[in-house]
Amino acid sequence: MIKVLLSEDEIPRQWYNLAADLPSPLQPPLGPDGKPISPDMLAPVFPMNLIEQEVSRERWIDIPPEILEILYLWRPSPLYRATRLEKALGTPARIYYKNEGVSPAGSHKPNTAVAQAWYNKQFGIKRITTETGAGQWGSALAFACCLLDLECKVFMVRISYDQKPFRKMMMQTWGANCVPSPSPETRAGRDMLAKSPDTPGSLGIAISEAIEAAVSDTSGQTRYSLGSVLNHVLLHQTIIGLEAKKQLGKINEKKVDVVIGCAGGGSNFAGLAFPFVVDKINGAQIKVVAAEPTSCPTMTRGPFAYDFGDVAATTPLLPMHTLGHNFIPAPIHAGGLRYHGLAPLVSQSIVEGLVSPQAFDQLDCYAAAVLWARTEGFIPAPETSHAIAAVIEQAKQAKEEGKEKVILFNWSGHGLMDLLGYEKYFSGQLTNYVLPEGELQENLRVLQNLPKAPANKTGKW
Ligand SMILES: *Cc1c(COP(=O)(O)O)cnc(C)c1O
Repeated sequence: MIKVLLSEDEIPRQWYNLAADLPSPLQPPLGPDGKPISPDMLAPVFPMNLIEQEVSRERWIDIPPEILEILYLWRPSPLYRATRLEKALGTPARIYYKNEGVSPAGSHKPNTAVAQAWYNKQFGIKRITTETGAGQWGSALAFACCLLDLECKVFMVRISYDQKPFRKMMMQTWGANCVPSPSPETRAGRDMLAKSPDTPGSLGIAISEAIEAAVSDTSGQTRYSLGSVLNHVLLHQTIIGLEAKKQLGKINEKKVDVVIGCAGGGSNFAGLAFPFVVDKINGAQIKVVAAEPTSCPTMTRGPFAYDFGDVAATTPLLPMHTLGHNFIPAPIHAGGLRYHGLAPLVSQSIVEGLVSPQAFDQLDCYAAAVLWARTEGFIPAPETSHAIAAVIEQAKQAKEEGKEKVILFNWSGHGLMDLLGYEKYFSGQLTNYVLPEGELQENLRVLQNLPKAPANKTGKW
């Protein structure tokens, strides 16, 4: 058995909301005055139907049939077994992965892009602004807006705009308007350019720009869209884990021992993992690993604290693991993992001990990606290679222990637009960038005057 397919009528009809089952409840987002914000305060930024999802504590939320109609273009995505990698590693573990690289944009991101564009359209919105790191989110939203006939404006982190020109061409092909960030088009962008004209940019800066561009449209027909981090984004991604459960059931694989995903903002990780995290909450023995880069160690070295989602401090304060909203990560190739914060739902799961974070060096991730490509064929995105490095480590551990473990991970996207990174790796031009402790502490100083987030946990895990 190499792959397990589901038919269109076997696709999950509801998304799963972990907020309904977290043992210690999520803490609310706070406004600048330190008080919880109300849904209507988000109304200039997001359409109300998505705000309702953001604050929902319902366990199951119906997927509108019109959204499924678009998802059928590539969903249900295949579940594969990586038998050739298993053999190369000599591991007794069975390694399964969801291939999210089969979507039109080549990653998991269209799962939420389509849903968000659809809800915006339902609400009467005509134009959506967003930021993008490596370009995967921008291209996913460009694709979704194209199918739903919405205008799309993308602020793309400068370093990726320069390093990864193909993604902006994809956006253009789907009819979106993509500019490098920081840009002179917004006040946030101009301020940053005045301070450091040569900045590689960051997701934090690009978010500030995209929000400003949305809320400053006086016609009221523009909204902002975020590709990760928020509850509703993670919700839309749970279709991945829900499909995976059905697929494992079909081949009579009854128990998963290890679930792995890479985490930038946390959405592909959560999408696969949350339907299994609830099993863990209900008593199952599952190790859940979230992989990140050592150059941007949000989960492994960042405290759990209230912080802004962007550099200009325009977003509400979110309770999350963070490196400080001013943090600008080293220019590693996994652009989608260069974010200072992390989804509150994933952060709270880490605080609770349900999820174990782990950091990997860039060179080890490329080595893992190349081993993957040479055994399994598909060339992974640099982000995905962090999950693969974690999988290889778990598979080797299973070998040492002589245990037939079942490992499931999210193959979040292909790397066919990221081959320049591979070329640099092969020619020895890439290095590791472990974040120095002094730099970390310096960045965390921005948290000093912000409200503290208590690390509530039951102590069960
Ligand atoms: C964007 C991206 C990620 C990281 O984003 P998350 O929200 O953490 O999932 C990981 N892998 C790929 C291929 C991506 O495009």
